[in-house]
Amino acid sequence: MTRTVENEHEYDVVVLGAGPVGENVVDRVRAAGLTAAIVEAELLGGECSYWACMPSKALLRPVLARSDARKVPGLREAVYGPLDALDVFAHRDETVGHWKDDGQVDWLDSIGVPVYRGHGRVRGPRRVAVDGPEGEHHVLTARHAVAVCIGSRAVLPPLPGLTGARPWTSREATSADRVPGRLVVVGGGVVGVEMATAWHALGSHVTMLVRGDRLLPRMEPFVGERVAEALRARGADVRTGVSVEAVVRDGGTGPVTVVLEGGETVEGDEVLFATGRAPRTDDIGLETVGLEPGSWLDVDDSLRVTGTDWLYAVGDVNHRALLTHQGKYQARIAGAAIAARADGGGGSEDPAPWGPHAATADHAAVPQVVFCDPEAAAVGLSLAEAERAGHRVRAVDVDMSSVAGAGLYAHGYRGAARLVVDLEREVLLGATFVGPAVGELLHAATVAVTAEVPVSRLWHAVPSYPTLSEVWLRLLEAYRDGADPA
Ligand SMILES: Cc1cc2nc3c(=O)[nH]c(=O)nc-3n(C[C@H](O)[C@H](O)[C@H](O)COP(=O)(O)OP(=O)(O)OC[C@H]3O[C@@H](n4cnc5c(N)ncnc54)[C@H](O)[C@@H]3O)c2cc1C
Repeated sequence: MTRTVENEHEYDVVVLGAGPVGENVVDRVRAAGLTAAIVEAELLGGECSYWACMPSKALLRPVLARSDARKVPGLREAVYGPLDALDVFAHRDETVGHWKDDGQVDWLDSIGVPVYRGHGRVRGPRRVAVDGPEGEHHVLTARHAVAVCIGSRAVLPPLPGLTGARPWTSREATSADRVPGRLVVVGGGVVGVEMATAWHALGSHVTMLVRGDRLLPRMEPFVGERVAEALRARGADVRTGVSVEAVVRDGGTGPVTVVLEGGETVEGDEVLFATGRAPRTDDIGLETVGLEPGSWLDVDDSLRVTGTDWLYAVGDVNHRALLTHQGKYQARIAGAAIAARADGGGGSEDPAPWGPHAATADHAAVPQVVFCDPEAAAVGLSLAEAERAGHRVRAVDVDMSSVAGAGLYAHGYRGAARLVVDLEREVLLGATFVGPAVGELLHAATVAVTAEVPVSRLWHAVPSYPTLSEVWLRLLEAYRDGADPA
């Protein structure tokens, strides 16, 4: 009988998962003088670096740049013609470091954080066991905290024939190096819309199958309408209110047939399912600490798992806001809270022992840019969300073509902007923009919403002439001139 040798190590903090969030937790606690180790099963840098944010944006950048250039008189003639898909893939591959994590290894090395490669599992309070790729075993004990930062994975619905049909998930959609002639995209959320935009521009005929009545349902309704209209105008087939019942790919090769409710079929060369995310918590030892395997982890505002005084869940895994920037924000908060508690900064009986370290922006000021064409960007509450939350609000809408900078940015610029104003306090609860290049407008809105800048003060934040940001003046004027419905 072979006896397993377990190597025991002790650190102040053990981080499970080295995506952007885990990396930021170790960076923050290390900066506070604590020792930390990080465990990674695949590539340091996580889903974001190799199969999500970075490759998707590398695929989309030439798409959006070409689209913008085509709206500039004198330039448009220079950019007709197809994208060079091989060049786009080469740039994408370079952006993701050719799916190698040497850069991240060097960085962790430079800050003195040891990396344990392999699948990690919690093994009772403050302990993490790691099964390495060469059969080695390590047990890491944390003096202060274990932070679970293991992200999420794509969900495939339980449809007949789906697994055998080898569907694309976000991983294949961001890493494929061949343009399918016909791509069927199931799902109208951010991943579905971005990937439909990219692959359509790369040359696929795209059919989108969306169960709801519009694209990007978490944003203001006018956003999804504009994005669908633009996709259709470019030749994509966008169908809403349809439900997929089965998927067939004979023998696992050849074309794939998607069967809709009612029996209609749609054929493609590939089918992408962009139908949501699930936590990767089914096999990380949660049962050893009384938590439910397979569940999202509930946390307080310091990102500490409910009912524990040592376990943190940061990033996608806590299901608060599945975005890299929001996860990194949480990582900075969690790291600071762990350091404050390690320093004796309050006991667990204190209702807020982390003091100022609370991830409040997760509740009311999450910014998101969707890199489709036109771009969509929103922060805070939509009008419907604000009303549901019981706020007395007014929506202020502006057609962005009324801004001088918009006409200069793109001939015939089409875009829309909305502010949701809290009428009690005269501060912004939310802002939404759709149109070329609006992603870069968003941070001003994020500052205004997060800092609760009074509308009267916003008049003193003067946008440069002639930029797209002058939309802020149009929005303030519309608010000033509008009748208060109360
Ligand atoms: C197609 C796509 C595009 C996206 N684009 C954007 C975007 O533009 N902007 C944005 O803000 N967000 C975007 N997102 C969301 C973003 O990718 C996630 O919010 C982000 O990756 C979450 O970071 P994380 O560190 O929590 O998890 P991840 O990035 O998933 O990293 C988790 C890490 O933990 C490791 N791990 C998991 N289980 C274990 C285990 N048991 N032991 C050891 N290691 C383990 C994994 O291998 C992985 O490396 C996109 C998502 C998708 C799918």
